[in-house]
Amino acid sequence: MGNELTKLQKKILKLKKERNALILAHNYQTMDIQEIADFVGDSLELARKSAEVEGYDLVIFAGVKFMAEMSAVLTKDVPVYIPDTRSICPLAAFVDGSKLREIKKEHPGAPVVVYVNTTAETKSESDIICTSGNAPEIVEALGVEKVLFGPDSNLAEYVRRRTDVEVIDIEPRGHCYVHDQFDIAQIELLREENPDAIVIAHPECPPEVQDAADIVGSTSMMARTVANSPEKKFIIATELGLVHQIQKHNPDKIVLPAYEGAICRQMKKNTLEKILHILEDLPEENLVSVPEEMVEHVRTILERMNRAPSTLESIVAK
Ligand code: SF4
Repeated sequence: MGNELTKLQKKILKLKKERNALILAHNYQTMDIQEIADFVGDSLELARKSAEVEGYDLVIFAGVKFMAEMSAVLTKDVPVYIPDTRSICPLAAFVDGSKLREIKKEHPGAPVVVYVNTTAETKSESDIICTSGNAPEIVEALGVEKVLFGPDSNLAEYVRRRTDVEVIDIEPRGHCYVHDQFDIAQIELLREENPDAIVIAHPECPPEVQDAADIVGSTSMMARTVANSPEKKFIIATELGLVHQIQKHNPDKIVLPAYEGAICRQMKKNTLEKILHILEDLPEENLVSVPEEMVEHVRTILERMNRAPSTLESIVAK
């Protein structure tokens, strides 16, 4: 872990052991939470980890609500708690079940591909889930002429440019406010100051920012690229928490944020104090649940998402 743990962190770790709890944290969480977590990852990695949970009495999921819902569906009988129930992803909130039912009526037969950043209700109306790491491959592998895609319109454009498929936005206004605020002027200025740096942008960034980057990829791809590249300096256009995490794991490299203000306020609602509260009191209101009638379908499409990319064709053939 590197740093000396604080009293609060030590107290959480002691209670975590007594409660036989597992703490999963998204890599946009603050470093103090990441330091006491059993596993830190992006939403796909956390979903895969949730499906493997065994031998624990509870899971604390430090992330936003749609991720905790996925965890609750995949851990089956192990209860999942979220430290702050107001940690709701505004991107996921752009689409709900009724909006999806409406657009499906307008495009009968078109498969519905949703980004992992959606609520369980939206997933329950969808055919397949993609991540920022595999969206074009998923859409291409479907072998159809058009798909309904959402809720992120920047990611939809990223897919559109990389496939021959007609990609219809479920919600053209859908965006992540954290990634949508990067602009070319910031990138150009940083490039002038750091001509030797490699620029990596997330596909939730606007298309013109993606065009200005050297590499476009998911958060786990960003982390892998910095770790494995012989280059020494990087400019990263994603949430600040991940930039700090990449820097921490690569002390021999310089990792610069494309914008210091790229902070997801919803992710930061979770705190160590709230995690301690869960471990002490197991508050019922923090227990994450998904309506029974949605669970089976959501679990089925999440399990498809969790499979390795090499099995994509057989997944979509089903
Ligand atoms: S960074 Fe964007 S997509 Fe991720 S949780 Fe925050 S608002 Fe949602």
